[in-house]
Amino acid sequence: METVAYKCKNCVAPLQYNAAKQKFTCEFCQGEFTEAELREYWGELDERLDEPIQPEPEVSGDPNDFDSSTAIYTCENCGAEIIAEKSTTAATFCVYCQSPVVISNRLAGKYKPDMVIPFKFSKEEAEERFFAFCKKKKFLPKKFISHAQLDMMKGVYFPYWMIDSLKDGGIRATAKKVRKWTQGDYEYTETKTYKIKREGKIDFTGFPCSAIKNEDKDAMKYVNPYDDNDFRDFTMAYLSGFIAEKRDTERNELQSQVDNDLKKYAKKIYRDTISRDYDSVTVDSMDLHTVDEKWRYALLPVWLMNFTYNNKTYMYAMNGQTGKNYGELPCDKKKLAVFGIILFILLAGLGILGGYYLI
Ligand SMILES: [Zn+2]
Ligand SMILES: [Zn+2]
Repeated sequence: METVAYKCKNCVAPLQYNAAKQKFTCEFCQGEFTEAELREYWGELDERLDEPIQPEPEVSGDPNDFDSSTAIYTCENCGAEIIAEKSTTAATFCVYCQSPVVISNRLAGKYKPDMVIPFKFSKEEAEERFFAFCKKKKFLPKKFISHAQLDMMKGVYFPYWMIDSLKDGGIRATAKKVRKWTQGDYEYTETKTYKIKREGKIDFTGFPCSAIKNEDKDAMKYVNPYDDNDFRDFTMAYLSGFIAEKRDTERNELQSQVDNDLKKYAKKIYRDTISRDYDSVTVDSMDLHTVDEKWRYALLPVWLMNFTYNNKTYMYAMNGQTGKNYGELPCDKKKLAVFGIILFILLAGLGILGGYYLI
């Protein structure tokens, strides 16, 4: 079988990972279990991930009805068919019995993540934060905030590469100090030029790089960073009750992009060690090479909402570990127009006042 559903040891109903309790819970008998208890009952939680990757199941029916990446799996709870719409879906729900389903085949072999940060914010907490975020937006259309929208709040584990890179190198820079003074009829300018050299090792740890070619990827950078103290060894059980995406990029495709990003950071780090007393500092050259580098594959939690309002698509994202949020929300043009008019009257008023004082 390519799917996994972790079952409650009391009543065999499917378990979900509960972010508020930081435990695995059963909705039917209210049972609660820790990871250790789950392991005791289940034995090895990720046994299947060491098996070779099975070929994706065939698409049934008319192949034209589906995206070529759509694959069908079977729900272990009710036996219904589960459609994984994207080729990157690694955890989802059964539409018939709402059971969490983990597609183990997509987390196996080289796609087995090294680490995971489990969700810390529950859906309820994510919703509360969303409302608080909306309240701060002055021109949000009233009917926009309805509960119907919140159904679309999804807990998603996004695939990331976490990079540890030890660099060695340095920069050469030119710095200037300028002094001006007058004496009698003469104005003097003195420019002192300094040649500066900085050398040293820089140890980057846990530098994040999105591992998915996804349209929401840009929004993810606004909810970064994650606190790496919460990293745990990966187990599929944490995905139960959430959606998860698997990576669709390899290290070699991203290496030059990461090299460039780290180069920019390294340049800034070296430059920032130069005293601020100079009037100008120009970096003339940089030499940087990699001493050691390790890429690890991690799944990181995000509460995500995509919605359409007046034919336009918006999105909201919240870091599932830290609560940092970001959103593009619609703006009510009527409310904005009223505000514009009030502001105009206010400014006109100030103008009259200004004019009055000028007389
Ligand atoms: Zn139970
Ligand atoms: Zn089912």
